[in-house]
Amino acid sequence: MKIISSKHDINQLAKQSKASGKSIGFVPTMGFLHEGHLALVKEARQENDCVIMSIFVNPIQFGPSEDYDMYPRDAERDKKLAKEAGVDILFMPSVDEMYKKKQSVKMMVTERTNRLCGAKRPMHFDGVVMVLTKLFHLTIPDRAYFGLKDAQQFAIVSALVDDFDFSVEIVPVNTVREPSGLAISSRNVYLTAEERQKAPALYHSLLLGKKRIAEGETDVTVITDAVNDYLHQHLTAKIDYVELLSFPELETISVASGNMILAAAIQFSAARLIDNIIMES
Ligand code: AMP
Repeated sequence: MKIISSKHDINQLAKQSKASGKSIGFVPTMGFLHEGHLALVKEARQENDCVIMSIFVNPIQFGPSEDYDMYPRDAERDKKLAKEAGVDILFMPSVDEMYKKKQSVKMMVTERTNRLCGAKRPMHFDGVVMVLTKLFHLTIPDRAYFGLKDAQQFAIVSALVDDFDFSVEIVPVNTVREPSGLAISSRNVYLTAEERQKAPALYHSLLLGKKRIAEGETDVTVITDAVNDYLHQHLTAKIDYVELLSFPELETISVASGNMILAAAIQFSAARLIDNIIMES
């Protein structure tokens, strides 16, 4: 596995791969790798000749009061796991390498962003599309892999690629969970022992909502109220949101039908967890 930190070098390697007729699968991450990231690599490995992973904690997608400084990092462990998973090229740039001191052009997401995490994290997705635009140009992937755990990110990146005619296929990968149902996340390390025990209730609340829909409930407020009630009964953490929206448009609906996402976010003492279920009715 090659480890690269310069934009020039990663672009040269990607161009060489392309010139020799190899397809490129790209897995962008912020590191502190876990089973979720590795599921993306596994799928990329199956579908491409060359797998590039990036590890970059992107400062411009964090708000001033968010956890950029505290975000967990372990470069040595990440290198080992990436190599074992079959990554061919690991791109680990510094912030100075990725961004000029003064950027003259910025990007702004105008749809699919004022709901869910976007509503609570203004500018977050502007930072996400900016870094991905740069990474797509540098790594020139045929396919890029995104976890559905971050379903709003998947929806916005799909729109980015569609609106700006990027020549890359965005491949969704199902959420990897612990046996308890808890979605695996780098931020889970910041749960206390007691919170970790209770955190699976987040997924179970969404399963309850899904069950109500399967039983024939179509009133969105009744469904989201049931999810909220379950969370209140099982957790003391603050509920950021519970929403049932169309997917991937992320528009509000009053009747549950068609492709939908049921999503929730909760704030524990030092970790904010998100989860969702995507379904059709
Ligand atoms: P992150 O490092 O948190 O930015 O995540 C990098 C990629 O891994 C994103 O596409 C995430 O959606 C994906 N990912 C994170 N956790 C999981 C998980 N539990 N299952 C599947 N994909 C995941």
